Amino acid sequence: MKTHEYQAKQIFSSYGIPVEKHILCFTAEDAVKAYDGLDTETVVVKAQVLSGGRGKAGGVKLARNKEEVVFYADSILSMKIKELPVKKILISEAVQIDSEYYVGFTIDRNSKSVILMLSREGGVDIETVASETPEKIYRFTIEPFVGMPDYLAKKIAFTLFKESTQVNSMAKILKSLYQVFIEKDASLAEINPLVLTKENRLVAIDAKMTFDDNALYRQTEILAFFEPTEDEKIESSAKEKGFSFVKMDGDIGCMVNGAGLAMATMDMIKLYGGNPANFLDIGGSSNPDKVIEGMRLLLNDKRVKVVLINIFGGITRCDDVANGLLTAFQKIESDIPVIVRLTGTNEKKGRDLLRNTRFIVAETMGEATRLAVGSSKN
Ligand code: GDP
Ligand code: MN
Repeated sequence: MKTHEYQAKQIFSSYGIPVEKHILCFTAEDAVKAYDGLDTETVVVKAQVLSGGRGKAGGVKLARNKEEVVFYADSILSMKIKELPVKKILISEAVQIDSEYYVGFTIDRNSKSVILMLSREGGVDIETVASETPEKIYRFTIEPFVGMPDYLAKKIAFTLFKESTQVNSMAKILKSLYQVFIEKDASLAEINPLVLTKENRLVAIDAKMTFDDNALYRQTEILAFFEPTEDEKIESSAKEKGFSFVKMDGDIGCMVNGAGLAMATMDMIKLYGGNPANFLDIGGSSNPDKVIEGMRLLLNDKRVKVVLINIFGGITRCDDVANGLLTAFQKIESDIPVIVRLTGTNEKKGRDLLRNTRFIVAETMGEATRLAVGSSKN
């Protein structure tokens, strides 16, 4: 799960990580009130969207007076950043930047541990730094049973700083950021940039946290921040109905029993040059209600041009599935092509039931996939 900068800053603050004063706003009028409230000359108007790269997209602007606040608030609130409409902005006290650093904890699958990444080249170009000059990013693997004790935090802080007050505040930030990362079940806790101000203070002027979805059941404070996208809303309602469903952007709707077969089906579609619209595991039942619900999910997606049903009959018998499909499609009004591949127990019986009906029957997965891909291209 992703969070907004203002939400991550709220969490950071509660762990003692220094952030500038900021106020969340929804309109330009709010922004003016916030500007007056902050009682400072220069503020930063910042888009709050669940995406990075706001600065580069024009979603972060310095405003030096009321007129500029109104102008930038209005223009940023009417922007889209990476397709996401900006509905909230942050009015934040501006800082005088001396230098910008990158600090982030994340999970590294290669070392199977939490890693800390640091760089002197923080700011909006960190991706370029990472790809073109990776040696400018320092990486530290964190031992889970050691964590981030004082001595280690200080030792690491020396990578970026020499002066003792800077080293001490950096060490404090590292300890707090690690603590927040662990305690909140985060998959990313990032400050980019962490700035050294002209007054020699270290401040997190940006904050980014993402969380492990599987831990949200025990992170109620974080879950309260959840703002599902349209696709996520569909996925979670599918979950409530007992489906395992992931939306994708292709045009072949897939209905499969078993997660492994569902993944293999998607691979096969790709192999034959098509694009799956979704991953859908309907589980091991031939229940017509489940088929109806599943089809509803697929047909709600207007991009779906063809449906591929791929069933392996193990405990579920193929003739039961075929009867389930026939019953279900009495209630489904759609002339979309539906290709069915049944294999396993009673497969022949199942296929025979579906012949000369609205279904297109295939025997092998290859045949079914070719038919689906072909039909999606017409
Ligand atoms: P991002 O582009 O989405 O990562 O947004 P950031 O919050 O990181 O802001 C992008 C850039 O705007 C930063 O790297 C800074 O260079 C600049 N910026 C943000 N806040 C301030 C500020 O208070 N003062 C100054 N001078 N620049 C700022
Ligand atoms: Mn940033």
